[in-house]
Amino acid sequence: MPERKPAAIVTVGSELVEGLRLDTNTREIALALSSAGFWVKEAVSVGDDIELLAGTLSRLIGRYELVVGTGGLGPTHDDITREAAAMALDLELLPDEAIAERLATIASRHVRTRAADQIGLQALILAGATVLHPDSGTAPGQIVQTPRGRLVLLPGPPHEMRPMLEEFLDSGSDGVAPRILSCVGMSESDAQLAAQEGIGDAAVSLTVLATPALVDVVLIDDGAGERILAEVASRVRAALGDRCFAEDGRSLPQVVLSLARDRGITLATAESCTGGLVAAALTDISGASDTFLGGVVAYANTIKTSLLAVPDALLREYGAVSEPIAAAMATGVRDVTGAELGVSVTGVAGPAGGTADRPVGMVYFGVADSRGVLSERRDLFGDRPGIRTRACVTALDMARRRLLER
Ligand code: AMP
Ligand code: MG
Repeated sequence: MPERKPAAIVTVGSELVEGLRLDTNTREIALALSSAGFWVKEAVSVGDDIELLAGTLSRLIGRYELVVGTGGLGPTHDDITREAAAMALDLELLPDEAIAERLATIASRHVRTRAADQIGLQALILAGATVLHPDSGTAPGQIVQTPRGRLVLLPGPPHEMRPMLEEFLDSGSDGVAPRILSCVGMSESDAQLAAQEGIGDAAVSLTVLATPALVDVVLIDDGAGERILAEVASRVRAALGDRCFAEDGRSLPQVVLSLARDRGITLATAESCTGGLVAAALTDISGASDTFLGGVVAYANTIKTSLLAVPDALLREYGAVSEPIAAAMATGVRDVTGAELGVSVTGVAGPAGGTADRPVGMVYFGVADSRGVLSERRDLFGDRPGIRTRACVTALDMARRRLLER
């Protein structure tokens, strides 16, 4: 198998390093390069400083077979990438006729002649470079040979960058896309150990990415090739067990909705401490309305009794954060909406309100369907947003498990 070629990404723009705009291109480019078989080893951001960028480009070009830059290809005074690259590679900048012609038409719409001149600067191409023509926008991309490999310059605006990156990668890539196994309710270390078991001594490298309550196990081809990577992925999936909910990049709410849809089961939510996060996660997905009927945010006890028919006596006996109340909320929302599966959450999100027998992080979950009702306690950690996020994910996971049994 071909070795993965080392690559680097450089994003250009003072707005990126000064915190005025978020650099989203690095993520997109890095994922695309990994899928195309490159090994991204470095990603840097540089302000609009021609000397600094020329120095950075020289260093990266000397080190990596592929360097992808974005930003600084526009027409304004701060767009210095062309010149910096010309300095770094000691190449001339020459006008590309086709691009110049296209730009002249655009320039004729401008009132100030200086603006028209500036637009024309975008037709300057590094000597010998291949031009990537813009679909939208005015700045062309460029691919130029370097002593070690190639330098690719792409515009900064993501919607202009994206098609050119695709065009560049389509022209001769032989990579194997990474496999991403998404898991819920599993620690990073457990996920890592399970994954390593599945990898064995195959030439596959492993990255474990955690967000609250979710872990992505990323398997990257490191010389193993497509077939071995697929075999490793299925062994890792077996080792992860039913904690693994997707192998295709789908989110947990997407998986819950599609499991429910496949089974013809409708869903409803009754939420206290998550205040609608579960409903929001489900309605975030376009087309959810055929499966998710709705939910009740029952924060106060009076709402639990009036809208969800939770018995007042039960609330007085057990308190709002308890197994019987989670069960009654799930049953109640099922009855009131007519959904087949009701999901409930009630807990102490903190930081205030915890007591010795009702500590912060104690959360009860309920799932009710025509087969009965089940309720479970989990002790979640974190600050208030962390506990609420984990509670939302746990509720979705309980729904997923209930659906898998059907
Ligand atoms: P430029 O190509 O440098 O003129 O960039 C134009 C605009 O594209 C900037 O003002 C940003 O809004 C956006 N942009 C540039 N670089 C990035 C990046 N790395 N990630 C996301 N947006 C970017
Ligand atoms: Mg810029």
